[in-house]
Amino acid sequence: MAANLKLTLTPGAENAVRDGHPWVFADRVKAQNREGRSGELAVIYDRRDRFLAVGLYDASSPIRVRILAQGGTVKIDDYWFRERISTAVRVRDEHFVDKGTTGYRWMNGESDGLPGMVLDRYGSVGVVKIYTSAWLPFLSSGRFLGWMRDCCPIASSWVLRTSRNIESMAAKVGLADGLPLVGEIKEVEVTTFLENGAVFEAEPIKGQKTGFFLDQRDNRLRVRELARNADVLNVFSHTGGFSVHAAVGGARSATDVDISKHALTAARRNMELNQPMNSAVRECRHETIQADAFEWLANATRDGRRYDIVVIDPPSLAKRQSEREGALEAYRRLARHGVKLLRRGGVLVAASCSAHVSAEEFYKIVRQVALQQGENGRELFATRHAIDHPARIPEAHYLKCLGWKVS
Ligand code: SAH
Repeated sequence: MAANLKLTLTPGAENAVRDGHPWVFADRVKAQNREGRSGELAVIYDRRDRFLAVGLYDASSPIRVRILAQGGTVKIDDYWFRERISTAVRVRDEHFVDKGTTGYRWMNGESDGLPGMVLDRYGSVGVVKIYTSAWLPFLSSGRFLGWMRDCCPIASSWVLRTSRNIESMAAKVGLADGLPLVGEIKEVEVTTFLENGAVFEAEPIKGQKTGFFLDQRDNRLRVRELARNADVLNVFSHTGGFSVHAAVGGARSATDVDISKHALTAARRNMELNQPMNSAVRECRHETIQADAFEWLANATRDGRRYDIVVIDPPSLAKRQSEREGALEAYRRLARHGVKLLRRGGVLVAASCSAHVSAEEFYKIVRQVALQQGENGRELFATRHAIDHPARIPEAHYLKCLGWKVS
């Protein structure tokens, strides 16, 4: 057996690890005793040759080591992994047990102490999404599924999702994005789950993220609470999450606008799924419009359309630092359109999932636009991450949402 993989780091990186940062970049590795393989444990020593941390080595990524534990020495074995996973899973299961919610994030990567891996639950389907090739050996050997049997017994099927950058490495070990690890494709292609009592479809194999935008759950509930008798416009609706909850809350109408025909078809199905057991959903007029949201909003403003609630939840508009300025301008434009489409006393709900735009920057833009409309408007909420999507490092923060009632 090869000797343990040992690394030393530059002084700055040493301090960052000591402060709890979970990543070591390749150019911060000062020395290592041998070449490493993705997925093996790397033990990091400080400049005085004392144990500093242990992490998962990734030979192919600029993030060379993802820290699992630092400070005292620990044994990283199956027991350790199961403890980490079951701790995260227990917090969610206990939180959601009596909330009519069976779709949520079980584990959120770095922020739950298991870097580069996300676990989501959709009813009895579990989805694992990995962002580093370091996890591939654990998946191909069946070790991962052993942990899941113990930690998430409720999941009878498992689907693997991989980030794009590791697809070719996954293929080399017989794994692929959208591969069912346990269960048949037809069982997991489309699955249903509950979110605060409403039924939704998720598409674990092909859908965006792991099959649904679970991260907006709390904001959908806020819209539901404001929706009685409202005409609701849901821009960038995807599969209609905000609209279904608005309908449950008694909205008069819900209009979904999205560029994706596939998403709008699912939005209609999600509305239909809730009709049999909910008269408010049956009575809500639902319309879907396939269009580019920016163009449609400009026309709708001109056409004099008016709503009581306008939700605007675009995809990430700044995927990299260089796109920031354009994104800020786009958020301003979207908020302006949103406000113009509101009746008196209406509510704008504006969200951003761009990691390169900070919450404060985004809030500031929406507040400025809203105040230009009228000084007597009122902020209803400014939210960040939901309980199942904790963000414990700056890099993990992305979601922010602001609700504003115009005068
Ligand atoms: N609010 C949704 C999630 C939105 S995800 C929910 O609660 O589930 C972003 C959506 O924006 C995707 O469905 C995508 O198809 C859509 N989209 C991306 N670019 C668009 C554009 N230019 N016009 C309209 N929709 C767009």
